[in-house]
Amino acid sequence: MTALRSHFTGVITHPWFVVALAAGLAFFVMNTTTGTVQILTFILINVIFAQSINVLTGLGGQISLGHAGFFGIGAYCTAVLTRTYGLDMAVSIPLAALLGGAAGYLLSFPAGRVREVYLAMMTLGFGMIFYEVVREWVSVTGGTMGLSGVPSAALRTASILGVPLNQIAYFWVVLVVTLIVVALLSNMTRSHVGRALFAVHHNEVAAGSLGISHASTKRTAYTLSGLLAGLAGAFYAHLVGYLGPESFAVHRSIEVLVISIVGGLGSIAGQIISAAIFTYLPEALQAFAEFQFIVYGVILTFSLIVLPKGIAGLILDPPRFIRPSALAAARARKPELVWNDSVGRVAVKVEGLTKRFGGLTALDDVSLTLKPGNITALIGPNGSGKSTLVNVTCGIYEPTEGRVMLGDTDISGLPDYKVAALGVVRTFQDPRLVPSFTVRENLLLGAHCLGRQSGMAAALALPAAMREEAEFLAEIEAVMELTGLSDFADTAVDSLPYGYRRMAEVARALMARPHTILLDEPAAGLSESEMEMLGGIIRKMKEAGLTIMLIEHHMDFLNDLVDDVVVLDSGQVIYRGDIDGMRKDQAVIAAYLGQEEEEEV
Ligand code: ADP
Ligand code: MG
Repeated sequence: MTALRSHFTGVITHPWFVVALAAGLAFFVMNTTTGTVQILTFILINVIFAQSINVLTGLGGQISLGHAGFFGIGAYCTAVLTRTYGLDMAVSIPLAALLGGAAGYLLSFPAGRVREVYLAMMTLGFGMIFYEVVREWVSVTGGTMGLSGVPSAALRTASILGVPLNQIAYFWVVLVVTLIVVALLSNMTRSHVGRALFAVHHNEVAAGSLGISHASTKRTAYTLSGLLAGLAGAFYAHLVGYLGPESFAVHRSIEVLVISIVGGLGSIAGQIISAAIFTYLPEALQAFAEFQFIVYGVILTFSLIVLPKGIAGLILDPPRFIRPSALAAARARKPELVWNDSVGRVAVKVEGLTKRFGGLTALDDVSLTLKPGNITALIGPNGSGKSTLVNVTCGIYEPTEGRVMLGDTDISGLPDYKVAALGVVRTFQDPRLVPSFTVRENLLLGAHCLGRQSGMAAALALPAAMREEAEFLAEIEAVMELTGLSDFADTAVDSLPYGYRRMAEVARALMARPHTILLDEPAAGLSESEMEMLGGIIRKMKEAGLTIMLIEHHMDFLNDLVDDVVVLDSGQVIYRGDIDGMRKDQAVIAAYLGQEEEEEV
């Protein structure tokens, strides 16, 4: 069954299959009724529209109940520009898409501040405002009477670059644009852009620790999504020739959500299949017309129970986020570890750091220096503020008082993704990988902040973008070798044993080429042999000159690894020095070691 599915996925997502399908369709429309051509064109429009939800929700994890608004912005923009101002469709349609993108960009600012239910309400509000504006702005939209006389392929009033378009020609135009959109999206999904969107979707804090800004990633998602919805709306306007507010009411937003969710969020192919089914069905079964909503409702309810991952989840392999051609190019390269240029040269220092959560003082006037090239152990009882120190150092929290210095630069209050980009990278006490990503995909995410190629270069699969991707992939081979993950390169992280997940997180942090790495209890839950392996990796990092902060409870593990020890208790530094001195220190014994020994009994 799985082999069959993989085979099927391989066939239908192959570029040549897509080209053959398109050619078949192009031939078919020449020999069929205009009614069928109209439906086929509408399917393509819904394919583009569904992709806009796929980018926002499937990849970016942001919900929208107001997408008819973007669709409508595109439709009215091209309608007014062509009908009232006589602009050519070749100009007005791209402008309509851009206006949709601009609307998405603007909406991303308020939308970026809210989540889940509140985000759903906010986007619903956006859709409702758009609907009311269309109804009231009579001079532009025709109000409830609608806007007729929009150049239309069906009425033979449309033309592009002066060439009149009949329905067949219009279908071809929309087909070519849809193919381009699908190709660009498919490249983009399997690039740093798609991976970043999915990482933010999964865990914003973990994404931030890898140099990915959730705010700008969400802006990208909304902008792209608005652009695609605007494009779909513009094509819709010239398909039907008449625009009334009802076409952009909330049911249109719901309809496209249904198409996208039932198709399978995250899967481009799933969106295409679902758009075809959901556009064709109501047309074919006219009797459904009055009950469309009930049918949609039933299918949606049913689908989420039976097909939680949609049609794509049933018949296709899960989408992947690396291009096979990039992998092939990487194989031609020598796997090599690459270290940060500043390794061993800049010190991270915290000075008088205090962090309060309400009435609780988690860190109380903490000062310490991570000496370049040294391993500093940070130990202390649970709740003593160790993780908080890492979080403040890496920009997840702002300090209440005091500052964090990187060399001579004050980096306190800098957001997490900027700190990571400066070469200070951390791992989490609870591994925070993207569970559905393979080990290799997760590791590639680690290299995000090193990437210099634009999203556009990635979407066009330009040689420079492919070279960069191959360079990182080759480095990943070496990192996997070092961390014992080579055999699991293509295994999804959620089916990996716990110990390997921990290794994968350390490996991912290494892929960011840090000069300073903060490991928050990396050995927790590891077996003896896994701990030995981890010790080996940490030694390798030290040999390469990395500055390491290691939070750990196992004294045996720390013994022959560490240079300095800092002990925290209730947010205060109670000891600073070497490990032997620590063992004899009365304050440490009272606060920590005594308790540790009791636990071990
Ligand atoms: P450790 O890592 O040493 O076990 P933490 O740094 O996680 O300790 O926690 C130190 C104290 O700060 C604990 O009392 C914890 O409950 C509190 N704390 C940590 N993060 C938060 C937060 N985001 N909000 C409120 N309290 C927090
Ligand atoms: Mg902790």
